[in-house]
Formats: sequence, structure tokens, C-alpha cells
Amino acid sequence: MAKGKKEAIESKNGTAATPGDGAGQQVAEPPEVARASAYEVAQRQLDEVAGFMGLEDDVLGYLRACQRELIVHFPVRMDDDRVEIFTGFRVHHNTAKGPTKGGIRYHPDVTLDECRALAMWMTWKCALMGLPYGGAKGGVIVDPKRLSIRELERMTRRYATEISLFVGPERDIPAPDVGTNAQVMAWMMDTYSMHRGYSIPAVITGKPVSIGGTAGRESATGLGVAYVTRAVLKQRLGRGLEDVTVAVQGFGNVGSWTARSMHDRGACVAAVSDVYGGVYNSHGLDMRQLLRHVAETGSVVNFPGADSLTNAELLELPVGVLVPAALEGQITRENAHRVRAKIVAEGANGPTTPEADAILADNGVFVIPDILCNGGGVVVSYFEWVQSLQSYFWDEGAVRRQMENTLIASLEAVNGAMTQCKCRMRMAAYMIAIERIIAAINVRGFYP
Ligand code: NAD
Repeated sequence: MAKGKKEAIESKNGTAATPGDGAGQQVAEPPEVARASAYEVAQRQLDEVAGFMGLEDDVLGYLRACQRELIVHFPVRMDDDRVEIFTGFRVHHNTAKGPTKGGIRYHPDVTLDECRALAMWMTWKCALMGLPYGGAKGGVIVDPKRLSIRELERMTRRYATEISLFVGPERDIPAPDVGTNAQVMAWMMDTYSMHRGYSIPAVITGKPVSIGGTAGRESATGLGVAYVTRAVLKQRLGRGLEDVTVAVQGFGNVGSWTARSMHDRGACVAAVSDVYGGVYNSHGLDMRQLLRHVAETGSVVNFPGADSLTNAELLELPVGVLVPAALEGQITRENAHRVRAKIVAEGANGPTTPEADAILADNGVFVIPDILCNGGGVVVSYFEWVQSLQSYFWDEGAVRRQMENTLIASLEAVNGAMTQCKCRMRMAAYMIAIERIIAAINVRGFYP
């Protein structure tokens, strides 16, 4: 029998939880968020780097465009027997370095342009991390919290079928992103496998360990943010995580694992937020209690012993490290001059607009760019893909060590380019990535 809508958000102890389900607690409706066009931002960032590098127009034109774009409209039967039509996307930005890799987003604001931007950023990130991939991204226009668990499964399986033209272990390997998780990846892997007639675990990463997922994937992005931030703090400020207060915007996969990983390494995590609002305690939030509260209520809001604050206020707190870990376009020309953190560690993809980047630099705020800072996720996804292809599995210690080595090697390369070119860290990271992609394009040539 179909289950109720509330079960779409399953709490850790197995009981259904929606924000506000906690005893008598009220959670405000999500605020409207003004967002810059992510694709425009991604292209402007590329143009800036291309100008700095003196890139030829034909190569720039090639990199500014996405190689393949699929739009799908598909029906799903809902629990009340109605048929709803959903729209989804899958975009491949560039395949010069290998098959494409990138997440699947379920969010009401997903657009083709957003997928294009996120796919482009994935190309740069994979190249910077030294992975044999190009970038991709996909998504469905949906608020997954409004679907029952069965509706979510039917929608996922139909979307997986629609985009199966584009994906495959040697072609394009999806992973989780905003609004999707290991269960969604399991349904996608199963659907793809059913069509082929045998199990193909390497088609997806971020899947459960029981079907060939890797140890350490769930925590990878947030833990990686902590590793990179710790190294940058040491190098730039001569301080450790135990010397700083931290604010984290977004408390999903990336935000919650960043907060936990930094807290476990001694940081004072003073503020966190999600789409419903934020909480703040200058002495630090009790992470175990907070995680229990989120499991029970579905939100950080109304966490006992903390003051409430908005997402906008969180971005302006006087902390050592600010981690935007929700959506793109959060630090803009409107609020950048009010950011008081010493370091912005980009857990999210594209949280800072180019105008904001310039303002932050003028104000002495050091930005660790997304393609470096949150690269731990795709690095461990690569490890998962390799393990799935070989059916040979590593323990979590090996996964973490290899991830940290890859991230720190990438950081060192970026530091070297920054020193050499006397530029911002984002510019240095982009230059390394784009040089690697151009090397691949040059040696492959333009077909035919
Ligand atoms: P998620 O769905 O697990 O969590 C998203 C969080 O952001 C939730 O807490 C949600 O409530 C909050 N949120 C949504 N809209 C918001 C808004 N308007 N204001 C404030 N908070 C809002 O998603 P995730 O996987 O943690 O991804 C977060 C970001 O990190 C995205 O930019 C994603 O592309 C990026 N990222 C994710 C991974 C990964 O492995 N999951 C890897 C690299 C980068």
C-alpha cells in the first residue's frame, strides 16, 4: 500500500519526520531566495580566466558551450491515481578527458541553465583533482519533500529510464546532489541494471555499500572541506581548526558532514542553517544533540539552547570560517561587503558570484574555491567507480587517506600557481584545470 507524503523524509530512527513535527514546534515557510543565473556566472568566470591565460577564441568558444543537453518530460502516477508530468535534464559539458561525472539534483528551482553551470564546474573540478572525467549534471524540477516514498521511487525510476540514453559506466556516471541520496542512487542503479538484464554498479556512485558503494562516500565531501580548510588555515593564518569559530549554511549532506568533521577536529561550530532558517550559539553548538534534533524534527530550527537567525544573518557572522554549503549565488554584490569571516570555504558549488569574489578579495576575505574545497566528493566517487568496475573494495581508512592525499596535492598545485601568477585562488585553480583540459583537447584534436 502506498505510504503517506510525510514518509518522503525518513528520520534516522526510521520514523517519519517533517520540519515542525517536533513537539509543538513551528517552522517558518522557506524564504524566497534571489539567485543569480548560475550559467552566466560560470561563463563569466571562464571568460575572466581565458583573458588572464590568453586563451584562443576557438578553444574558449568550445569550453563555453555544453557538448550535449537532454530535456525530458515524463509521466508519473501519483498515489491518488493522478498522472503528473515532470521535467528533468542531463547535461554533458565536455568529454575531452573521459566519461562525464556529476550529480543529480531534485529541487523546484532546477533549470537547464543551472545544470549547464553545474556541469561546467564539474569539468573544472574533475580536471583539477586529476580525475579521468569530464563534467555533467542533471536534475528534476521537483520538491522531493512533497512526494511520498513510493512516488519518489516511481519518479526516480522513470527519470533514470529517460536519461539512460546518456548514462553508462563508460559514458556518464551520475551521483547524489541537492535533494537526492544513496537510496535514490540505488533505485537509479537498479533501473539501469534491469534494462540491461544484469547488475551494473559502476553506472552510479554514492550508492549504498550493500550494492557496491564505497566506504566513506557519504561523509567525503564534508570531510574533504574540513581537510582543505584545515590546511589553508595553517598556511594562510598559522592557525588550526581548534582556533576558529565556524558558520555553515546548509545542513544537508555537505553542510552536516562539514560541521561534524570540523567539530570533531576541535572547531567551535557556532551557527548552522537549512532552508527553514538557522541557529546560533557563540559558545558552539552541541553537535550530537543537534544531529538528534534534526533527525527528530527534519530541521535545525528551534534547536534548544541556541538563538534563531536567518540564512542572510548567518553569512554575516564574525566567524573565522564561513562555509556556504547550500545552493549557488548566496554571496553576491549585495551582501559580500558584510561578510566578516576570514575564510570562505565553498562547500556548495558556485555560492559566490564574480562581483562578490572581487569585494571579498578587497576586504581581505580569503576564498577557497568550490572546485578545490568540495572536491572530496567527486574524488571518492571516482574511488567508488574504480572499486565497482573491479569488484575489489577498500576499507574506509584507505579511502580517506587517498582522498586527503589527492586534495592536498591539488591544493599544493593551486598554491604554486597562485604564487607564480600572483592571482586569486579561484583563478589559479581554474588555470590548472583548463590547462589540463586544453592539453587533452590538443592531443585529441577536433573531430573529424
Ligand atoms: P542536500 O540536499 O543534502 O542539502 C542541502 C541543504 O541546503 C539542506 O540543508 C537544505 O535545507 C539547504 N537549503 C536548500 N535551499 C536553501 C536555501 N535557499 N537557503 C539555505 N539553505 C538551503 O545537498 P548537498 O548534497 O549537501 O549539496 C549542497 C551543495 O553542495 C550543493 O551546491 C551541491 O551541488 C554541493 N556539492 C555536493 C556534493 C555531494 O557530494 N553531495 C559534492 C560537491 C558539492
